[in-house]
Amino acid sequence: MSQLDHLNRTSASLTGDKTPPRFKVFMARHLDGLDVLKRLPEETVFEMKVVASVLPFRVNEYVINHLIDWDAVPNDPIYQLTFPQRGMLSEEAFERMAALHRADAPRDEIQRLAQELRADLNPHPAGQMELNMPRDEDGDVLDGMQHKYNETVLFFPSQGQTCHAFCTFCFRWAQFVGQQELRMASTEAGALHGYLESRKEVSDLLVTGGDPMVMKTAKLAGYLEPLLSERFEHVQTIRIGTKALTYWPHRFVFDDDADDMLRLFDTLVEEGKHVSVMAHFNHWRELESPVTREAIRRIRDTGAQIRAQGPLLAHINDDASVWARMWETQVKLGVVPYYMFVERDTGARHYFEVPLERAWHIYRDAIQQVSGLARTVRGPSMSAGPGKVEVQGVTEIAGEKVFALRFLQGRNADWVHRPFYAKYDPKATWLDHLKPAFGESRFFFEEEYATMQNPRLA
Ligand code: SF4
Repeated sequence: MSQLDHLNRTSASLTGDKTPPRFKVFMARHLDGLDVLKRLPEETVFEMKVVASVLPFRVNEYVINHLIDWDAVPNDPIYQLTFPQRGMLSEEAFERMAALHRADAPRDEIQRLAQELRADLNPHPAGQMELNMPRDEDGDVLDGMQHKYNETVLFFPSQGQTCHAFCTFCFRWAQFVGQQELRMASTEAGALHGYLESRKEVSDLLVTGGDPMVMKTAKLAGYLEPLLSERFEHVQTIRIGTKALTYWPHRFVFDDDADDMLRLFDTLVEEGKHVSVMAHFNHWRELESPVTREAIRRIRDTGAQIRAQGPLLAHINDDASVWARMWETQVKLGVVPYYMFVERDTGARHYFEVPLERAWHIYRDAIQQVSGLARTVRGPSMSAGPGKVEVQGVTEIAGEKVFALRFLQGRNADWVHRPFYAKYDPKATWLDHLKPAFGESRFFFEEEYATMQNPRLA
C-alpha cells in the first residue's frame, strides 16, 4: 500500500460513509440568519452586529458545529475567539455605532464611522508600515513584504490575505476590513524572488497572511518551488504561518488539493529545505478535533515540522492549566511548543490584555507543570517596535523591585539576549508602559531605535 493510499484510508475513517464537510463561511451580514444564535438573547446578537461593523468577523460552519461548545457560551474559549463581544469596543465607540444601527442609518454612514473608530485602534502596530518595508535597488517599496530581522523575510501573498475564520483579537485585523490603505499584500512572485536573491543574509522565509493555507496549492507552489534552485541556497527554512489546523484542518486532509499540498511539503523537504508550519493555537480544545489530529499526522509524515505559538488572552486562555495542557498535548502529537506572545497593542486589545506581571506568572506556573520537552516554549514575549522582548520575571535588585527583560529578536542583532531592567509596574501591559529601572533615563536601545525610526536624528 502506498503512503497516499494509507493516508486516504485513514481520512475515510474520519468521515465514515459521509462526504467530507463543505467549507461554508459566515460574515457580519449573516449574523441575523444564523440558526445557532437564536438560542442567545436578541440583545447579544445586536451587540455582535455593532462590533462586527468595526472589527472584522468571519467564521465557518465547522467552527460553529464542531469547535464551539454552545452550552458553555459566553465563556466558551472558541466562541470568544471567533464571535464579536460588546466589550471589544470602548463604551463610547460602541454607543456611537449602536446609535447608527438603531436608527437604521445608511451603509455609507456606518462605514464612515467604522473607519473613524478603526483609526483609533492602532491598525499597524510596531511600525509595520513605516519601518519594515524592504525596497528594491531603485529604492521603491516592495509591497507585501517585511524585513525586520536580518535573517527572516515575511511575505504576504495577496491570495492569502484572509483566513478560514477570523480571531477576534487578531493583530492583522486591519488587513481584513477592506480599506485598501491598511493592507499589505503582494501578487508578485518575481519581486519576492528578486529580493531574496539579492539578500544572502536571509535564511528564513515566512509566508504569512491572513493565512496562506487559504491559497490553492498551485499558487503556493509558484512562490515556493523556485526556491529549490541554487540561487536560493541561502534560504534554508520555509515557514508557513497558519491557523488552518484549528479553523479548517480539512485543508490537509479532504480538500481537493490537500494531497498536492502535502506533496509540495514533501518535495521541499526532500530537496533539503526545512519546512516549518508555524501553527497558531490558543487553547488545548483546538487540538482535540480528530481532523486536526489527522492533519498534524499527515503534515509530519512529509518531514515538515510543526511549531506552535499564540498569544495569552483574557477571556480565552489566561490560565496556567490551559497552557500546560495545551503544551503537553502538542508534545504528545509531535508539535513543538514555540512561543507564548503578549497580546499586541492594537484592535480590541483592552478586552484581551493581561498585565505583564500576570502573564509571567501564568507562563511560569504552566512551565512548572510540564516536562522538559514542552519547555521549548519562549515567552511571554512582546512583538514590539524594537524587537521581540521577553519578560523574564519580576525580581528585586539592590532594593528595587524590577522587571527583568531581554530581546529574543532585535532590529539590531547586538541587542539580542542582553538583559535589561524596568521599574516594576503591576499595571503595565506593553513595553511602552515600562520605565527604566535604577534611575536611568532610557533603555539601552532607545537612542539607536529612535535613529532607525528617524534617520535625520543620526
Ligand atoms: S488566523 Fe492569524 S491572521 Fe487570521 S485572524 Fe487569526 S490571528 Fe489573524
